[in-house]
Amino acid sequence: MRSNEQPSAALPAALINLLALDLPSAKRLMEKLGWPRYRAQQIFRWLHRRRVSDLAQMTDLSKTERARLRAIARIERITECQVFRSADGTRKFLGRLEDGLTVESVLIPDAGRLTLCLSTQVGCTLDCGFCLTGRMGLKRNLKAHEIVDQVLMVQDRLEAMEKVTNLVLMGMGEPLANLDAVSDAIIRLTNTSWGLGIPARRITLSTAGLASRLQDVAALGINLAISLNATTNAQRDRLMPAVNRLHPLNDLLAACRHYPLPPRQRLTFEYVLLAGVNDTEQDARRLTKLLNGLRCKVNLIPFNEFPGSPFRRPDEASVLRFQSVVRRAGLDVFIRKSKGRDVLGACGQLGDLPPSQERALLMPVGAGC
Ligand code: SAH
Repeated sequence: MRSNEQPSAALPAALINLLALDLPSAKRLMEKLGWPRYRAQQIFRWLHRRRVSDLAQMTDLSKTERARLRAIARIERITECQVFRSADGTRKFLGRLEDGLTVESVLIPDAGRLTLCLSTQVGCTLDCGFCLTGRMGLKRNLKAHEIVDQVLMVQDRLEAMEKVTNLVLMGMGEPLANLDAVSDAIIRLTNTSWGLGIPARRITLSTAGLASRLQDVAALGINLAISLNATTNAQRDRLMPAVNRLHPLNDLLAACRHYPLPPRQRLTFEYVLLAGVNDTEQDARRLTKLLNGLRCKVNLIPFNEFPGSPFRRPDEASVLRFQSVVRRAGLDVFIRKSKGRDVLGACGQLGDLPPSQERALLMPVGAGC
């Protein structure tokens, strides 16, 4: 059992965190109390849609009912959160989890949208050489409610007019290595009756390529992005050893070809551009061959550097050259703007730095908010 499944030291042993329950468990709890099962949805609405953190706020329960609930349950949310604001408007949120670990979420404003990049693990199972998170190793999987709570935590700290509109599961961790919690979180995030009601089409999950689990993403109805990052097995073995050993390039692309893509949707392939490593015209041509016939678009991500990183960011001319080769082959190809680099909030920059470097780089705007 993981530490956050246990009640924290401050709580009596039997106190249940309502936010940590899935709907069937919540219904069972209602039965135990002798209440109608629909009360579970009613309570979930308060938790997700009204973001209440105190049972006293559930005003459609009578005073006696609230007292009975308080005797056995409470609402445990992320309470401590630091916010770092980038010069480009990106905000990085560091939330403190029950066991003292930190979860990172990044809010990216763009063209009328507010996209929140969520973490699914603390650290990461994988060891991609260009990613800072990979260096931490896996601290632990996040629970479903800790994934959802990142949205609640951020939405609580926004201005009245601001609303998170899109979600990307592209923060710390490999979402498909924590599939059960991710699936449960997606249900809570999308459910329109008692969940957050965020449309599935506005949610994208990004995987380093756990090919055997792509079908599970299709079942969730959300968008799928695949971090390809290399065009030969040898290159991918070097850059993403753990995942490519499990699912070599050909297996991954075969799984993509079998993916039950709904009409009008397409896959996204992400490709981190590393100067002198995978950014040549030959790489670009190989990429177009690999993707031939797939209904997809390509997002190029110029490498975001971090202290001690072994790779360099290509200059703009090489990025544009790569893009034009891919475009000439008839593919839609975009260059991802690297937002939040000054607060280490951009792709691949989430993770542990030595404290001295972190202090020098990051100045919180609202510590302990
Ligand atoms: N594990 C998932 C999601 C987290 S990484 C995945 O691999 O897709 C999110 C994206 O950031 C991936 O496309 C990854 O290739 C990219 N990325 C990682 N480190 C990066 C870096 N230093 N610079 C630019 N992109 C990076």
